[in-house]
Amino acid sequence: MGAMPVHTAKRIKMRFDSRLDKIKIYEAGKPIELVVREYGVSSDKIVKLASNENPYGCSPKAKKAVCDIVSNMAIYPDDSMYRLKQKLAGRFGVDESELIIGSGSDQVIELLMHAKASTGSKILINSVTFAMYEIYAAHVGAEVVRTATLHHDLDQFYDLYKVYNPSIIFICTPNNPTGDAIESQKLLEFLHKIDSETLVVIDGAYMEYAAAKDERYAVDAAQLIAEFDNLIYLGTLSKAYGLGGMRVGYGVAQSEIVTALYKLRAPFNITTLSLEAAIVALEDVEFVDQSIALNAEQMSRYESFADRHNIEYIYSYTNFITLLFQEPLNSSDIALSLLKEGMIVRDLSGYGLNAIRVTIGTSSDNDRFFDLFKRLL
Ligand SMILES: *Cc1c(COP(=O)(O)O)cnc(C)c1O
Repeated sequence: MGAMPVHTAKRIKMRFDSRLDKIKIYEAGKPIELVVREYGVSSDKIVKLASNENPYGCSPKAKKAVCDIVSNMAIYPDDSMYRLKQKLAGRFGVDESELIIGSGSDQVIELLMHAKASTGSKILINSVTFAMYEIYAAHVGAEVVRTATLHHDLDQFYDLYKVYNPSIIFICTPNNPTGDAIESQKLLEFLHKIDSETLVVIDGAYMEYAAAKDERYAVDAAQLIAEFDNLIYLGTLSKAYGLGGMRVGYGVAQSEIVTALYKLRAPFNITTLSLEAAIVALEDVEFVDQSIALNAEQMSRYESFADRHNIEYIYSYTNFITLLFQEPLNSSDIALSLLKEGMIVRDLSGYGLNAIRVTIGTSSDNDRFFDLFKRLL
């Protein structure tokens, strides 16, 4: 990772909390600057399909709104986040007291981990899922329990729940980095079987894509929190809304859960510019709808490409696709070869999969991917 400190000859002797020994630093998608430096590819030739960002950027209205208020930087943001909460409350049909805003939904995950888990707590997650659940669990000394299969198998979740009595269950639908989703009906049946002392987190970072693709996979946050007082729904502006750089995410839950999280939240946890961008982006429904439609169109190109070349893939409800390889094809080699050509994708070997995750880009990004990939085969 580009920003990681380089070891120098002089090693300091300070010891840190032993919980840190178990934590591996999260490797975000390689930033473009790093590829320029390491492989000497010129920056205009680099295509980054590694972090599930919106390849169409963000709402132009949001961009303009941020430019218009950029002179306000000396002033602290509105810590009540009133206008943003109003927008989200309207969108989900919940009360403002049922919302918490984070610096990305990542931060909400961090808060809820601290609110609900500590040394010895169990955290139940899918075998392969968003890496940050495990990292935040390690922060508080909690122990992660995983299911055994690639896709969320709610029967397995239930069996493990009964054995381990976890403090938190994470359900990521659609799941990252696999792209599959859970039918909302099945999810509801599962939720009814979980006691009210276990916090269930529904991470809907890609829900906008899933809901547009097939409504049976859409999750209604308002309905869920009305029905289940042990549940928090997470969403983000980083994916379909194209605001990854602004760091805005949110949690929707009954107000008692929100209050608990607020006790841990630092004031002013997102910026004035982020607030403005998020408010306007939420209003620009047209931009998001168009992004989702273009994503669907380009997704089908990946599916036919994979079919044509006999590459297995996971049917995706998101803005990325996971391609699964058979020996002798090796995902790390493939990702590295692509990287040397300026194409950044995510190698999933760290998750124990011989697979890569490719964010669906623009038509020309994807042309480039197909082209390079064909040459590799
Ligand atoms: C991207 C992502 C998030 C959070 O992203 P933020 O930028 O921190 O809002 C959360 N969960 C999953 C599964 C994601 O893929």
